[in-house]
Amino acid sequence: MPEVKFIADGMLGSLARWLRLIGYDTEYFSGKDKYFLAYRARNEKRIVLTRDRNFVIHNSSISILIESENLKAQLKEIKVKAGLSFDRERFFTLCSVCNFPLVQRNVSDIIANVPEYVAKTQKNFSQCEKCGRIYWQATHWTRMLEFIKSICDED
Ligand SMILES: [Zn+2]
Repeated sequence: MPEVKFIADGMLGSLARWLRLIGYDTEYFSGKDKYFLAYRARNEKRIVLTRDRNFVIHNSSISILIESENLKAQLKEIKVKAGLSFDRERFFTLCSVCNFPLVQRNVSDIIANVPEYVAKTQKNFSQCEKCGRIYWQATHWTRMLEFIKSICDED
């Protein structure tokens, strides 16, 4: 089965960032031109995530309506509607900012770019090759796992 990819319409920026953290390729569309959004979705084989009911009515085969207001409910909604499994192995594989694949780094590669404490205490680092942002499995990671687990547990 081909990997599902998304393009999130305006107002769904947080959802887009979280889908990236969970490991789903998600572009963000901040433009106003909905014809262009539909064109991009078809061209890049992405599913549009939108709060625009009218858009979904006219583009039902390539879009999913997100009805929930808050992030947690939105993630649950997309999980059910797109049939996603939030799989631990995919977490932290994409940059949350630019949707670019992360590459594994050794401490020696990134030591100059992270706080000394982090370099001493963390082992697993990954870096975005586009923006250079460095990720490691610290508190943010733990909180994220708890957040996603809370979504899955409520199924
Ligand atoms: Zn990046």
